[in-house]
Amino acid sequence: MKRIFLLILFIAGSFFIWAQNTPDTTQRIIEGRVNSPEQQQKPYVIMISADGFRYDYAGKYGAKNLLALSNSGVRAESMIPSYPSMTFPNHYTLATGLYPSHHGLVNNLFYDRNLKAFYSMRDSKAVADGSWYGGIPLWVLAEQQHMLTASFYWVGSEAEIKGIRPTYYFRYSEAISVDRRIQILKEWLQLPPERRPHFITFYFPEVDHSGHSFGPDSPQTENAVHWMDSTIQRLVDTVKTTGLPVNFIFVSDHGMTKVDNDNTLPLPAAVDTSKFIVPPGSELVELYAKNKDDISDTYVKLLEDSKGYKVYLKENMPARLHYGIKDDVFDRIGDILLVPDWPKIFNFSSRKPSPGAHGYDPYLVKDMLATFYAWGPAFKQEFRLPSFQNVNVYPVVTKILGLNYTDHIDGKNAIADLILK
Ligand code: AMP
Ligand code: ZN
Ligand code: ZN
Repeated sequence: MKRIFLLILFIAGSFFIWAQNTPDTTQRIIEGRVNSPEQQQKPYVIMISADGFRYDYAGKYGAKNLLALSNSGVRAESMIPSYPSMTFPNHYTLATGLYPSHHGLVNNLFYDRNLKAFYSMRDSKAVADGSWYGGIPLWVLAEQQHMLTASFYWVGSEAEIKGIRPTYYFRYSEAISVDRRIQILKEWLQLPPERRPHFITFYFPEVDHSGHSFGPDSPQTENAVHWMDSTIQRLVDTVKTTGLPVNFIFVSDHGMTKVDNDNTLPLPAAVDTSKFIVPPGSELVELYAKNKDDISDTYVKLLEDSKGYKVYLKENMPARLHYGIKDDVFDRIGDILLVPDWPKIFNFSSRKPSPGAHGYDPYLVKDMLATFYAWGPAFKQEFRLPSFQNVNVYPVVTKILGLNYTDHIDGKNAIADLILK
């Protein structure tokens, strides 16, 4: 009897562990939504992000499909990420047309003084909690105007923002194969017109992963770029079979650089951690004072101490970064900011950091620059343009899809006017 009981306990325990560790790969579908008759006449936009795909990777590594596709359409010399050049702030900037300080996701990990809580990209509860996210992401704007959307991942797409999620979406998981994702894309595009999504996002982390682990100049990163290149071609070929007027936007969130991971900077002795909240950071460390009276003393001490990094008060951050007191709409930027001089990084743990990183000021470190390519019936052909800021992607999408927005965004229409037919 006791043995049977133990066996049942073992099976139940194993099932519990399996259920906890098994990724959730089911497609979420919000029932009852349809495209309005007007929206059914509109074209389609597929926006693809290849995380960490530096502006020069396609040329550097001979990504022949991406070069050919962007040759046929629009290619920017590079795209300037918003500060800090991190994944979550920039994906959400691409989705909202707002600088990170204006949409609220000011870093991958940050502290909110008023909520007395941390947001972290590794905290799936926070990631899916819409109350952290400002602005009106493109899929919300479209759904508000009765145009259906789908997402195979994008920062914010799992959260209910302004009460809305994409009609078709997934919980973030790297467990779904690319074959399956392409198959699902095909199924979306073969749905009847009233249920077919017109704005679709895709996200791929592979190039960023190898850039971090092996550096931007490694054979592993070269392989990841080639893998991305062939995946895009498969995606494009699959879409072609549908015969639909689909426009592609291929972007990245930031670039990648080789950092000095042998001689890292420790947390300066001038920072008293009983007086400041200090979330871990490498290319940007933000200090949140528990008591504002402690700021100026610590700032002065840090200025005297600073070797290998710059110290800023939130009041004197360079204006071009839109990351100072004037821009801090959500009150989430640190009181004091420590910015290492490239290629230095901070490291507060005992583990050796990876050789590749990003997060630096893109106006100082060219390696931070991102990619923008676009092709399809709405785009001019064989069109080249200089570097532009990533807040300007939002109006490109709204113009193609004929969506109206009235809330303020930081992006301007000039880039859309320049690159669209
Ligand atoms: P970073 O440290 O800035 O390079 O962040 C990149 C990481 O963000 C990738 O390794 C992804 O695993 C992760 N990531 C990207 N999008 C999402 C998402 N929507 N939800 C959770 N994690 C994500
Ligand atoms: Zn990234
Ligand atoms: Zn990264």
